[in-house]
Amino acid sequence: MKIIHQKDGQLLKTVFVDRDGTINRDCPYCHRPEDLHIYEDTVDLLRSYQDKGYRIIIVTNQSGIGRGYFSLDEFRNFNQAVVDSLKHRGVFVSATYFCPHRPDEGCSCRKPGRGLIDEALSDFRVDMAGSIVIGDREDIDGDLARKVGLLFNLIRH
Ligand SMILES: [Mg+2]
Repeated sequence: MKIIHQKDGQLLKTVFVDRDGTINRDCPYCHRPEDLHIYEDTVDLLRSYQDKGYRIIIVTNQSGIGRGYFSLDEFRNFNQAVVDSLKHRGVFVSATYFCPHRPDEGCSCRKPGRGLIDEALSDFRVDMAGSIVIGDREDIDGDLARKVGLLFNLIRH
C-alpha cells in the first residue's frame, strides 16, 4: 500500500529509507503521536542525499496493522507526523510504501521481499544506478537492498 506525498515525473536516483528505528525511534509498533522521536543524524544524512538530487521514499513494514495493534488511520496519522517532522527540517518525502500484513500472510510486499520497491518503481522513474537503501536492519533492509541490486547504508542508533 502507499501514500504519495509529492509526485514527480523525473528520472532520479532515489533513497529508499526504512522508517522505524531509522528515521524515528522504534517503539516497537509506533503509532502514538507522543511516541515520535526523530533521529537528527538520519535527517542530516537524508538531507545530504536530497542536496545531491536524490528523491526520498519511505519503505516500511507495518504488521501492527494486520495484527490489529493499530488502525490504518492511526498508521496514516503517525506517518504523516513523521513526514511533517522531516519537512520542517527541510527533507521532503515523495512517498511512503508500507506493508500492512502479518508475516504469516505470505505477502510479497513485506521486507525483505521486494514488493514495496517494485510498487515504487511503477509509480516513479528511478535511476537505479546509484540509488540506495538505508535502514537499521542488516537482515531486513540489507537483504532488500541485495535483492534489488542497490547499495545499502546501515544506520545504528
Ligand atoms: Mg527498522
